[in-house]
Amino acid sequence: MPTPAGRRHAFTLVELLVVIGIIAVLVAMLLPVLGKAKAAAQTIECANNLRQLGIADSQYVNLTRGWHFPGYWGARGNTSGSGMLAYNYNRTFPGMYEFRKSMAQPMIPQEDVANKGNIIFNYVTDACYCPGAWYFDYSYYAPLNAHVRPMHYSYGINVEGVDTDSHLWLRQSLDLVLAPQADWKLNDPPASAHEYGSFAGYRAAQVKRPAEKLFMCDALWINVNMHGVSNKADSIRGYEGNYDIVHESHDVKTNGIDIYRSTAWRHSNNNYANVLFFDGHVSLTHKSALFTGDSHAGTAKGDARIWKVLE
Ligand SMILES: [Zn+2]
Repeated sequence: MPTPAGRRHAFTLVELLVVIGIIAVLVAMLLPVLGKAKAAAQTIECANNLRQLGIADSQYVNLTRGWHFPGYWGARGNTSGSGMLAYNYNRTFPGMYEFRKSMAQPMIPQEDVANKGNIIFNYVTDACYCPGAWYFDYSYYAPLNAHVRPMHYSYGINVEGVDTDSHLWLRQSLDLVLAPQADWKLNDPPASAHEYGSFAGYRAAQVKRPAEKLFMCDALWINVNMHGVSNKADSIRGYEGNYDIVHESHDVKTNGIDIYRSTAWRHSNNNYANVLFFDGHVSLTHKSALFTGDSHAGTAKGDARIWKVLE
């Protein structure tokens, strides 16, 4: 269009609106893509974390001549006010010296007597934290000079068959015939924090078909087992959807309920969990491979093929 001499061409209002409209459409098209790209990056980062944890475990297997990292050990001897066993975080895998060393985790200062046995043993850096997990308690912990988060909102170790924790229903997965090390009567109570009584872990030789068995995965507790899924019929576990990212924060925050042994399928639209298998490979695994049935209807059941390490 010819413009009058001496006058610069300016956008008309309509042209401007059209341009703005086009930009708005482009942004609207791009945003979900960016969101997906971020989620995909988190899934990959999480898988890399688990691969590193697998390498740390293989070092531990060499060091201990054949034992994998345990979920925890010797959780006997201390009871809290309610009569339940107090959870001893220094007896869980994130609290193990070998674990913290191989994952380059900040160490508990030996002279820090006040924090011995404290929950800090469960706190880890981003190297051990799923970026898709609920960012609970992202805190600066002065004694360690580090930003840390509780491991139990990130990854859990499979304790199916060796689950000796006497917290309510949880002994149902104990198998003393196949895993005598899980006997909770061993070292009762344990003489010291580093005595391995009732060891909720596996010997490498006990693991049947390592490429098919779940070692660690996205979780809502330090340990996972095949019962760790929502079940409406159970008054304790009856918090619907305790496996997904939406309720992950809701349950813990609102109800103040500790969610035990739950797998968290927090990747790919809350349908997949990253799983580290005993042979060291990591696979993004659909929830239907982990649990069959309907978790919301209370009929979900862990798939023995992936969960039952000893069989
Ligand atoms: Zn993850």
